Amino acid sequence: DIGAIADSEKVAVYLVGGMVRDLLLGLPNVDLDLVVEGNGIAFGTKLAKELTGRIYCHEKFGTANLFLNNGLKIDIATARTEYYEFPAALPTVENGSLKQDLYRRDFTINAMAIGLNHHNWGQLIDFFCGCSDLRRKLIRILYNLSFVEDPTRIIRSIRFEKRYDFTIEEDTLRFAQKAIEQNFLERVSANRLKEEFVLILKEKNMIAIFKRLKEMDIWSRILPELELTPGILHFLEHVTEDSSQLTSLLGPVDPGLLTLLLLCHQADEKRVAANIERFQWSKKYNLVLMKTAHEKKKIHAMLQGKDVPISKIDLLFRDLSNETILYFYIVSPDPEQKKIINYLRLRKERIPVVSGKDLKMLGIKPGPVYREILEMLRTARLDGIVQSRAEEISLIK
Ligand code: ATP
Repeated sequence: DIGAIADSEKVAVYLVGGMVRDLLLGLPNVDLDLVVEGNGIAFGTKLAKELTGRIYCHEKFGTANLFLNNGLKIDIATARTEYYEFPAALPTVENGSLKQDLYRRDFTINAMAIGLNHHNWGQLIDFFCGCSDLRRKLIRILYNLSFVEDPTRIIRSIRFEKRYDFTIEEDTLRFAQKAIEQNFLERVSANRLKEEFVLILKEKNMIAIFKRLKEMDIWSRILPELELTPGILHFLEHVTEDSSQLTSLLGPVDPGLLTLLLLCHQADEKRVAANIERFQWSKKYNLVLMKTAHEKKKIHAMLQGKDVPISKIDLLFRDLSNETILYFYIVSPDPEQKKIINYLRLRKERIPVVSGKDLKMLGIKPGPVYREILEMLRTARLDGIVQSRAEEISLIK
C-alpha cells in the first residue's frame, strides 16, 4: 500500500485537498491528491511500478500524474511553497513543507491532510481549522491576499458555496468583493477563467452558481459577450422538463454544450465569435456554437412559415447537432415546438428503402447521379409523396 511504499522510500506522504474534505462530509470523491515531503517524483515512479500504472512527470513543478490500470487517477505533488511575483501570475516553485503547501491552498476546508505513513496512518492534520469550518458550513480563505494572488478563487468560492450549500465567511466575502471591484478578475488569463467555468458547467447547482456570479458582479467580467438575462435563466431552469420530450427522438445530448447554446441565445454572431476567440472551447463546441448563431434567423423564419414541407425543414435541420435542435426546441413557442417534434418523428419513420445497391440492380450506372436519386427519394419520402418500395422505384423510373 501507499504507506508502506512511503516508509520504504523514506518520504512523508499525505492525502490532501478535496478528498479529505469529502471524506469528512461523508461524500464520494475519486480524485486522489497526494503531497509528498521529499522527492515526489521518485515516490510516484515507485508507486506506479507497484500499482501498475502509467506516470506522467512534470520535473519543473515536482508533480506527477498516475493513471492506474483500474481507472483510478492519483495526483502527486512535492510539498512546496509558491511565491507570487505579481498578482495573477503563474506560481514559481520552491521547496517547502506540508504546512506551507496547505497554506497556499484556496480555502480552509480544502487545506486539510491525512497522514498515510505507518506511524500516522489515518491521522487528520488540520492547521487552519478546516474541520471547524466544515462543521459551521463556511468557505474561508487562509490569508487576506488570497483573492489578489489568485482571483479564480473568487469563482471557486461560489462553486463550493452552492455545491455544499455553505456560506462564504464574512471577511472572505468582503475580500472577494474588494478584489472584484478592483478588477482583479480582469487580470486572469482567458484559459484559467475557462477552466473554472467548465467546472461550473459540471455542477448540479450550476444555475444557482450562475445567479450568484451575476449578483456579485462577476458574470459580466468573465463572460462579457454572453449576457445572463432572466429569459435565459428561465430556459436553463426548464431544460430537464423540455428535453425529456425530445431525448427519445434525438439521442444523446451534451449538457455543457446545450448550456452554452442557451447562454449564447441573446448574443449575435459577432459576440459569439468573440467569446469563442477568447475561450477556445473544444473544436466541436466552437463549430456548433458558430453554426447555431449563423443559422438562427433562417431557422426561426422557416419554423414560423405556414405549411412548410418536411423536406424543407430537413434541409436546415439534418446537419444540426442534437444540442442545437434541442436548443431551438427550448427557445421556440409552442406551435414551433410541435413542428420540431413532428419533424423528428417523421425523420425517423420516413426513410427510403431503395439503396445504392438497388440502383445498380436497376441498371443505373454508378456515379454522382446516385446521390441525386437517393436525395430525391429522401425528399419524396419525408413529404409523403412515396410510401413504399414500389412507389420509390416507379419514381426513379
Ligand atoms: P472537486 O471536488 O471540484 O474536484 P477539489 O477540491 O478536488 O474539488 P481541485 O480543483 O481538484 O478541487 O483541486 C484540488 C485541490 O487543490 C483543492 O482541494 C485545493 O486544495 C487546491 N486548489 C485547487 N485550485 C486552487 C487554487 N486556485 N488556489 C489554491 N488552491 C487550489
